[in-house]
Amino acid sequence: MNLVLTLALTAICLGGETFFHAPRAYFGDQAFSFHLSDGRVANGHTLLLECIPEGPGVEAGRVADLTVSTGTRIHRLYPHPTEVDSVLFTLIGIPYGTAPGPDTLHVEWTESDRIFDRELPFSVVAGPYRSEQIRGVPQNRVTPSAEDFRRIARERKIIASAYEAVRDTAMMADTFSYPVEKKTITSPYGTRRVFNGQLRSFHGGLDLRAYEGTPLYAAQSGVVKLAQNLFFSGNHVLIEHGMGIHTGYSHMSRLYVKTGDVVTQGQLLGLSGSTGRVTAAHLHWTVNVNGVGVSPLQFTEILSMLYGKPVEVRNRNDG
Ligand SMILES: [Zn+2]
Repeated sequence: MNLVLTLALTAICLGGETFFHAPRAYFGDQAFSFHLSDGRVANGHTLLLECIPEGPGVEAGRVADLTVSTGTRIHRLYPHPTEVDSVLFTLIGIPYGTAPGPDTLHVEWTESDRIFDRELPFSVVAGPYRSEQIRGVPQNRVTPSAEDFRRIARERKIIASAYEAVRDTAMMADTFSYPVEKKTITSPYGTRRVFNGQLRSFHGGLDLRAYEGTPLYAAQSGVVKLAQNLFFSGNHVLIEHGMGIHTGYSHMSRLYVKTGDVVTQGQLLGLSGSTGRVTAAHLHWTVNVNGVGVSPLQFTEILSMLYGKPVEVRNRNDG
């Protein structure tokens, strides 16, 4: 199938009023069928939507302005990695704070000057997250001083601008690989965190065993957006992979990359350590999809589904 989809993803829909109140028509052959990775998705997980053109009735130039949204969030579409000429996909991160219940993906497109839309129901279920007591964290890392608060506020701005996605195209051409040679999970994503008896946060990343000085590798190719010491994360590397996807690597002892570096999948980023708010050396690994922090493990599985191949594992002896 040699279908060219004309997409005008940035020029439309940003004023929600126009988008949701556009006149609609429901006739002619509908251009797409849709495939959701799952009809049920946990908070903190990622949903994969694939938009598959239906038959030869869809001609080049007839289909335009395809958009996918949940509520007021617009999800950009990209050419499918293995069906580049026809299928489109988008990755939808479900924020951790999303309450369980029914939700809807709204899909809308223009075909022969008529607007079509489709509602794809899915449900958000409560993720399998535990509560965890963490003791022995130095009190000055639990209740920061006034000076620390100023530092944290400064760093929040730096981090927020590092997360601004500037590369709309994919920089990744494959599944993720794990950032350590031997993957041993010491703490899963999503656990509710109680520090020294005070509920402070949820665990926004995946902790992988990485004794002091363990080499850490880029999970995928991209551009380094941040490589510096931060109050909570310690020595931290943030990589942008395009398509609104970022990975983060925290608590490192040594940084071998700097902001602006272009890195390839598997490139050495630095060594693990125990800098920042930690009790012992490990890797805190994060994945962020269009501003939403998600479970790295489940995201990696979704990417494997998208690329139709398993996650690359460096050390095949691991469990
Ligand atoms: Zn962690």
